[in-house]
Amino acid sequence: MTEPTPILIAGGTVIDGTGTPPQPNTSVLLEGDRIADVGPDAGAGRSDATVIDATGCTVMPGLIDAHVHCTFDDVQSNDELFFHRDHTLAALIAAQNLQKLLMAGVTGFCDPDTLFSMGPSLRDAVDAGVVEGPRMATGVQALVTAVGGTAGRLVPDTGVVGYAQVVTTVDEMIQMTRRHIKYGADWIKIHATGSIPRHKGELLAWKPEELKAVCDTAHELETPVMAHARSAGSTRACAEAGVDLILHASFMDDAGLEAVIDAGASLMPTFTFLANLADYGHLVDAGAGMQDVFRGEIEATAKMMAKAHDAGVPLLCGSESGFALTPYGHWHAREMEVLVESVGLSPLQAIACATANGAIAMRMEGEVGTLAPGMAADVLVVHGDPAADVTVLADRSNLRTVISRGQPVDLDRPWPTRSPIPGEKVANWAASSLTSDLQPPADLQGPH
Ligand SMILES: [Zn+2]
Repeated sequence: MTEPTPILIAGGTVIDGTGTPPQPNTSVLLEGDRIADVGPDAGAGRSDATVIDATGCTVMPGLIDAHVHCTFDDVQSNDELFFHRDHTLAALIAAQNLQKLLMAGVTGFCDPDTLFSMGPSLRDAVDAGVVEGPRMATGVQALVTAVGGTAGRLVPDTGVVGYAQVVTTVDEMIQMTRRHIKYGADWIKIHATGSIPRHKGELLAWKPEELKAVCDTAHELETPVMAHARSAGSTRACAEAGVDLILHASFMDDAGLEAVIDAGASLMPTFTFLANLADYGHLVDAGAGMQDVFRGEIEATAKMMAKAHDAGVPLLCGSESGFALTPYGHWHAREMEVLVESVGLSPLQAIACATANGAIAMRMEGEVGTLAPGMAADVLVVHGDPAADVTVLADRSNLRTVISRGQPVDLDRPWPTRSPIPGEKVANWAASSLTSDLQPPADLQGPH
């Protein structure tokens, strides 16, 4: 086999992803799927290299979106997700959607839970070159108790639906954790809090010994655990049980933060979904009356995330892409924007959350997420200065080059689209009830 031609990205301003200041007039040499050199003289004299002139551009690591649901296909409701999807079609459509992530500058992502347990298969298909997509780390399904997570009564009392595996006893929790690892899970996902009708917000739906049973079992098999925790107190319970990565951590208090610090856990607030609902939900008839609730949740949580960041807790960026409010390819940079605006991070600190810290979710620390010799050749060349304004990363037209595993991604092709597929959406007989008082008076009725 012939060696791939080296790529020299010459003369740009390098943001290396660690949070250190940008380096102007710096070059990056890529050999195969690795970074060979970074510096003012990198690649000097390498006449064999393909040169990308990055003068006036920013060169930075590819984004790592640590919270994507790549099999959900921009779903509008849990009913649609649980009852209107087909196994094979869902896999084929996911493969198409993975292209959108790459074309938006995402070169790595983590998917906590997948429809039809397909995460490990998709990951392996990407790694084998069968499907074009970013690097992927994945769970199998979310473990939920009979309370049912955020989907409530749509989740059955036992068994599997959509992304959820119901576990009702400690034995079953241990068994399913082992089974997910057997089938290739990079992460075990626990849905720690759930919604209950007639109760505001979410409640912790696991006992401490249940959380601990899953964490201990996963750790024995060298697999980390992430948990969805969206209530006061749940972050502390998860951290104390040994959860490695806490998603949302909404309403975390000081005791919760202490537990996170003691456990050495990481946090992924995933503000993007809430921020989109709060700021733009009205544009798509979503979240009516909920704007203030979500804004409040962001503000309460953001204060604690600032404290966590100051205390050295790694914050990860996740967009929750895969829902109609967070379609693939559109919002992968928004979390950085919220980290700057609401949490008070500098743009460079926010970029580190979406690159270097993302490596935690990939389980590839020291391999991806920064620009340094020996690291993976996952690189963006960007018009504009994200160190001054992270929102330049939200506009795909600012992405000049995306390199994934040492290979430039084709950004000139049309954005992937598809036609509707029969049966894939919830269908209603009517938008409301046809009560008799809706009949017009007899004299206005037409001839029979
Ligand atoms: Zn999620």
